[in-house]
Amino acid sequence: MTVAASLDWRERAAGLFPGGVNSPVRAYQAVGGEPPLLVRGNGAFVWDEAGRRYIDYVGAFGPLLLGHGAVAEAIATAAALGGPFGVTSPGEVRLAEMIRMRMPSVERVRFVNSGTEAAMSALRVARAATGRDLIVKFEGGYHGHADSLLVAAGSGAATLSIPDSAGVTQSVAAQTLVATYNDLVSVEALLQAHPGQVAAVIVEPVAANMGVVAPLSGFLAGLRELSTRAGALLIFDEVITGFRVAPGGAQELYGVRPDLTVLGKIIGGGLPVGAYGGRAELMDLVAPSGPVYQAGTLSGHPVVMAAGEATLTQLTPDAYAKIEKESARLEAGLQVDGACVARVGSLLTLFFREQQPRNFREAKASDTRGFARFFHSMLDAGVVLPPSQFEAWFVSAGHDSSVIDATLEAARG
Ligand SMILES: *Cc1c(COP(=O)(O)O)cnc(C)c1O
Repeated sequence: MTVAASLDWRERAAGLFPGGVNSPVRAYQAVGGEPPLLVRGNGAFVWDEAGRRYIDYVGAFGPLLLGHGAVAEAIATAAALGGPFGVTSPGEVRLAEMIRMRMPSVERVRFVNSGTEAAMSALRVARAATGRDLIVKFEGGYHGHADSLLVAAGSGAATLSIPDSAGVTQSVAAQTLVATYNDLVSVEALLQAHPGQVAAVIVEPVAANMGVVAPLSGFLAGLRELSTRAGALLIFDEVITGFRVAPGGAQELYGVRPDLTVLGKIIGGGLPVGAYGGRAELMDLVAPSGPVYQAGTLSGHPVVMAAGEATLTQLTPDAYAKIEKESARLEAGLQVDGACVARVGSLLTLFFREQQPRNFREAKASDTRGFARFFHSMLDAGVVLPPSQFEAWFVSAGHDSSVIDATLEAARG
């Protein structure tokens, strides 16, 4: 394809989609320039329409822990069988059992079509279970774009400097209280200021939408304790961390058991998916076994379930060990002036500041222009990074030692 042809695609997209994209984080607004027109991926690599190969650290923004194309066969096989059938199918049962085996707190689960839907529905369950209206979230925490969760919502909005979305009513926004990540005192203060009114505390157990910010020692256990004491549910949004930072997600890695868990991304193997689950008596509030209505025409789609099942099946202990080893090599080798690396497993951010941030305010005090320069030098060298200082790089099973070496070579300029 010629340069003119690729310009033509961009122009057509610009006329068709707001900002030329179907999700704002895909735009290169924060780093400048135009995204490459990518048409194919395999393992750690993606190719543009001119046949140029890049190393990919976007990983579809989280789902592709196995790399591109790893479950293509399972998808093709399932697609050939037709469906969905309008009844519960074996693929849903198999994937749910695999999830519960790895994440025992998820006693019952409901599949939906996006992480947004899953987080929104988990809040509905929490409000129904407690009879309370308020929720506590963290500044810079992203839980999808449901109205009540679009307050101080991290990367996408932060990149575009939209602190809170237009179109969210005051009355809805007022029911969302915002605490500071890694600051238990800020949580306790909100719970005390609103006694008996907070339905749930929702948190990314490893913050990954303000760049990667690990929980400080005792933070998650402290949230568990504060929530229980206040009669509020603790919801872990493991849409990114689930099945990535450990086979059983962040709740396994840090040994803290939430009441409800929000899932997505990896469990769909690159196809649209979400799920929420938790204690049986909470999930039994969901229709048709209980009064919380939540439904989805395409929920538990057999092709998506097959992609998720194939993904979890390939995520063996060996696969995790290899991903961890290569991620650690990437962390150790990335030495960039004025920047530091924050990493939890295969999630990594190169922050253009002296020290790893502990919360969103500190993350925002990064040299975003320095990041933009680095981003473009990497792109020129054939490495695609997420186009924002406030996103994680996603390492996959396809990133073998030669890929990591090539990345480090590119970073040395
Ligand atoms: C991506 C993400 C979501 C939203 O998932 P979608 O499938 O994009 O709706 C929710 N929570 C976290 C932590 C995420 O990273």
